[in-house]
Amino acid sequence: MSKALSICGRQIAPGSREIIEVPLPPLSTHSALHMPVHVIRGRREGPCLLVCAALHGDEINGIEIIRRLVGLSQLGRIRGTLIAIPIVNVYGFIHMSRYLPDRRDLNRSFPGSETGSLAGRLANLFMKEVVEKATYGIDLHTAAIHRDNFPQVRATLDDPETRRIAEAFHAPLVIDAALRPGTIREAAIEMNIPWLVYEAGEALRFDEVSIRAGVRGIVNVMREVGMLPKSRRKKTFVPRIVKSNFWMRAPQSGILRLTAALGASVSKGDTLGYVADPYGENEVHITAPDSGIIIGRTNLPLVHEGDAMIHLARFRDNASAGETVDAFQFELDPVEGSGLSGVEPIA
Ligand SMILES: [Zn+2]
Repeated sequence: MSKALSICGRQIAPGSREIIEVPLPPLSTHSALHMPVHVIRGRREGPCLLVCAALHGDEINGIEIIRRLVGLSQLGRIRGTLIAIPIVNVYGFIHMSRYLPDRRDLNRSFPGSETGSLAGRLANLFMKEVVEKATYGIDLHTAAIHRDNFPQVRATLDDPETRRIAEAFHAPLVIDAALRPGTIREAAIEMNIPWLVYEAGEALRFDEVSIRAGVRGIVNVMREVGMLPKSRRKKTFVPRIVKSNFWMRAPQSGILRLTAALGASVSKGDTLGYVADPYGENEVHITAPDSGIIIGRTNLPLVHEGDAMIHLARFRDNASAGETVDAFQFELDPVEGSGLSGVEPIA
């Protein structure tokens, strides 16, 4: 007998597929609000993978990742259950905002409580109705507004099962990331649910390479944990673990011209850009303090002193990390690449 699975009182039988509309507190106009939850349950027993996106309401790459994921024909033959939620922070999404209407960050409000703030109640509802059913989790994010992230997985690599799925995802870069209080990752780890955060692209934008890598990564994890058959396809690169990472901050306020692209391999002393006043006077060169790879950057050319400009990652072997980045970009290039698809690329 398979274990019963129910969300908001609705039973999902083995071999069935449902979209459950989880009711949320309505808008102040009293307009009803729901969070759609896809549940795809195989006939055979297996793990329960939760994939969620837009906990930050303006981080929309993950919504498209889930749209493509739930359309895959292989899902008709899965073992276990896939639960996929394209938009967790429905309130923020409506306003194209990271936050909730109470200005709280949902991903700093876990595990929440039934009697807490709107953010706390939403977090609590999500934990009870969804996260508690999962045996693995993947949370899809992008960089914050005006910033861009090179596709990367963040996870707690001390835990062997988490490390196994983090490597299986096969993003080019993996960060052994410290836990931030109040995140869903922290709450899930508290419940011993191996959890990955996939960070790729920019808020309020679609990025085809990030989306493709995300869909492929989730499928790779499903293969690793036995929900789908293993692939015999040869991998073209080895994921690299970041040794350390830090943000370079603007040395002065002004107009920023970055000359180094996201994903670029840089050597210590390389010029990465300039900050000057609007007339181009008082120009300060920005040079790489160390060798590494640019895994995040701002796309906004206006900075105040201290603003984050470039997220630089160091590796045990910077050259081989650079090879991984190149192989990944080549493979998933929407025009040249051979990796995946059948989907019309977003330009
Ligand atoms: Zn986010």
